[in-house]
Amino acid sequence: MENLHPEAFHPADHIQDLQYFGEFGGVNPSISDSSTYTFLSAKTMFDTFEGNAEGCYLYSRHSSPMNLYLGQALAAMEGTTGANVTASGMGAITSVLLQLCASGDQIVSSRTIYGGTYAFMKNVLPKWQIQTHFVDITKLDVVEAAITPQTKILYCETVSNPLLEVADIQGLALLAKKYNLKLVVDNTFSPLQVAPAQWGADVVIHSLTKFINGSSDTVGGVICSSQEFINDLRNVNDGACMLLGPTMDSLRSASILKNLRTLHIRMKQHSHNALYLATRFEEDGLKVVYPGLQSHPSHALFTRQMNSEYGYGGMMTLDVGTLDRANALMELMQHNNLGYLAVSLGFYKTLFSAPGTSTSSEIPLDEQHEMGLTDGLIRFSIGLDNDIERTYQKMSDCMRQLGIL
Ligand SMILES: *Cc1c(COP(=O)(O)O)cnc(C)c1O
Repeated sequence: MENLHPEAFHPADHIQDLQYFGEFGGVNPSISDSSTYTFLSAKTMFDTFEGNAEGCYLYSRHSSPMNLYLGQALAAMEGTTGANVTASGMGAITSVLLQLCASGDQIVSSRTIYGGTYAFMKNVLPKWQIQTHFVDITKLDVVEAAITPQTKILYCETVSNPLLEVADIQGLALLAKKYNLKLVVDNTFSPLQVAPAQWGADVVIHSLTKFINGSSDTVGGVICSSQEFINDLRNVNDGACMLLGPTMDSLRSASILKNLRTLHIRMKQHSHNALYLATRFEEDGLKVVYPGLQSHPSHALFTRQMNSEYGYGGMMTLDVGTLDRANALMELMQHNNLGYLAVSLGFYKTLFSAPGTSTSSEIPLDEQHEMGLTDGLIRFSIGLDNDIERTYQKMSDCMRQLGIL
């Protein structure tokens, strides 16, 4: 295959180069606290409705100054010409799917995806006669075989939830081009580390709720793509973001933008800590899945696709054999203040959950087993612990107490 390796891509520098001032010279941009905007002339209001008045605001469900700032920063991070922030990750995903598909269309999707996305494709989209074929996304021949003349979208997560499978974005983008499909990639698990649009993805989505905001105090989402597609999403006549209404509040986009400014530091620490724990636990003979380990089936692929300065990310899984042991270990680790038994990810503190009975419980049991999602699997989002060696010692103590080590 032709090597399309992009120029070295430094997303954190692109974010750093953006400079915004507040109305009174503040070091942070002013928050626009308005749902609607005045016009000096009626003609300009008409032009704005028609989408022809650059720089004019109309109504905050369409756009607002702070949401545009945050969108601009996230577009810079992904290297796309446009972005639109949304009230949640699901708000971004559902808007994109409904914008791109009409009745009778089909989607080819990875089968290991976020439970909410899976449930939407499986249970809601068929109400509009939109069918999804779920495939093993790591096998390009299987993906290609599932494409039909009705297929409009190839859908995957860069690093999948919860099994940490890595998608070959370049390979999928070539397939998307060949069959004239849109490649939509959920990049929530790997911000900064992989820039899917640089490898040919048409639309890149994030749940901002996770690493990007990083403080587990809000939900949020973003769609990064060409400015043309962003304009389509905001179109007052048929734009999914405009008409379904998944609008982020300005106060929230202001706080997320401030947190985004430290994302590169946090990602490096998440990656450092996760690699340390994954390496030690693997040496101890435990069943660990982490893309930074040589033993990971997609280690080479991740290495080729990554912006190496940010590491292999903060997500790791450990299979301790049975659900009872997984539950006992999580409760004991929480009791010892090593993290929280909670869903979600990207927090300063380590979070852990058993995906089979929580975030992936939307997926029927037989399908969970088929995709390798076992009962004893614990998903870890490794935190920003200052001394990860100390954390390792304490976690090992918990495992010894339960006979896991
Ligand atoms: C959390 C998550 C979502 C959904 O995002 P919300 O902000 O909770 O709506 C989508 N995809 C992935 C990979 C996620 O982890």
